[in-house]
Amino acid sequence: MSDIVRTRIAPSPTGDPHVGTAYAALFNYAFARRHGGRFILRIEDTDRVRSNRPSEAMIFDALHWLGLSWDEGPDVGGPCGPYRQSERGELYREHVERLVAAGHAYPCFCTKDRLDGVRAGQQAAGAATLGYDGFCRSIPPVEAARRRRDESHVIRLAMPREGQCVVRDLLRGDITFEYAGIDDQVLLKSDGFPTYHLANVVDDHLMEITHVIRAEEWLSSLPKHAQLYHAFGWDPPVFCHLPLLRNADRSKISKRKNPVSLNYYRRAGFLPEALLNYLALMGWAMPDEREEFTLAEFAEALELERITLGGPIFDLEKLSWLNGKYLRGLPSEGLLERLRSGLLSDGYLLQVIPLVQERIEKLEDFVDYARFFFVGEVAYDAEALKKLVPKGRTPRDTAKTLKELLEEHLDALLDWQPAVLEGILRSFCERTGWSPNEAFMTLRVAVTGRPASPPLFDTMAVLGKEVCRQRIRRAQEIVKSMKTPETRPLT
Ligand code: GLU
Repeated sequence: MSDIVRTRIAPSPTGDPHVGTAYAALFNYAFARRHGGRFILRIEDTDRVRSNRPSEAMIFDALHWLGLSWDEGPDVGGPCGPYRQSERGELYREHVERLVAAGHAYPCFCTKDRLDGVRAGQQAAGAATLGYDGFCRSIPPVEAARRRRDESHVIRLAMPREGQCVVRDLLRGDITFEYAGIDDQVLLKSDGFPTYHLANVVDDHLMEITHVIRAEEWLSSLPKHAQLYHAFGWDPPVFCHLPLLRNADRSKISKRKNPVSLNYYRRAGFLPEALLNYLALMGWAMPDEREEFTLAEFAEALELERITLGGPIFDLEKLSWLNGKYLRGLPSEGLLERLRSGLLSDGYLLQVIPLVQERIEKLEDFVDYARFFFVGEVAYDAEALKKLVPKGRTPRDTAKTLKELLEEHLDALLDWQPAVLEGILRSFCERTGWSPNEAFMTLRVAVTGRPASPPLFDTMAVLGKEVCRQRIRRAQEIVKSMKTPETRPLT
């Protein structure tokens, strides 16, 4: 094992860059800095369907914006590369063969139908845990090796069947897991690609990671990972599972209740140093209880053992308050510079101007007309409110439609371009029976606050996904709370 501290984050590039990634990155970065170690960025793109390069690029970009730089990674290289799992396939296949040869893993030929049947049987019998029944584990190795040549199969880890596994977490001490509740995990899929468990453990070992500092949601993987370390004969790293960030109602942080994309915080004008400072307060307090501190001060003071597990609440109001303090502390030139690198940058203004130019008569009209391009939320006046719900449709129907559009079509969209948005909207209309006129007006009012605006999809593209998503969600809530007018008044 490395004699210097080596930490890492291992995000999966499957969507917008998540605030949880920044949280883990911050603690890993600071811990490595404190110990003169190295901080590594590894891209876990084993999910071939959901992983994509634009999402990877957004992770890099968001972390750069925050000022968290890494010493090794796909873009900067390093001695343990490649740092993208999709480029390390051969390594995983080699390693899995070692496990098969040693009897720690085995090929499984079960078809999907059989697995579905097993699950259905377990459900019907009210089994406490559902999972693979180990059917292929008893196939003699010679026969299994022969069948592997021409039968589709996965490779599974042979977990102990009974007894307990005790794994140490730096913050929780020894944690006991019953083997009975853990089935034989797939390590290598039938297409030869690794699963998270295999790739994660092999890479943490080969990249000589000394401390795995990650989110609490990965705790349940611990016994499987511990078994993999044991099967390979490797020393495990120190595990430290950070507390889960929570919404104000204590549920796990989620985009339904809080913005979770780092792009939102950047667009809204949170200062990166304020966001980092706030994230550092999640489960951590400075020895002198001071609430405001720099990244360097945090890195100097961080002791993982002092992280508390209370379930820190990621509270937007408190973050805004802290951000305000940082803003007020900037000299005027400093604030000007921040504005000029964001909302008032030439780049952004040059996107807004062509949409506004034809609609104003004097320069002074610009600010008033273009207001909705610069603010976070928009106000809906009485006229706008009336237009949010098309004639002949109920508020309930409209709210449902906005919700569906957002959650099923727009939330996952990364390519936020006018033509793509228009395509999505038109096919949405065909499916739902909303006419384009109805849908476009509702959306126009939701995202601009007005019944008349520059071309809708160009406007949405300039506003960006985060702003549109926030406004659509708010409009949906407003519509949902409207009373359905009586269509046939009682006489
Ligand atoms: N790929 C996992 C993620 O997306 C990494 C979990 C870990 O740090 O082990 O967060």
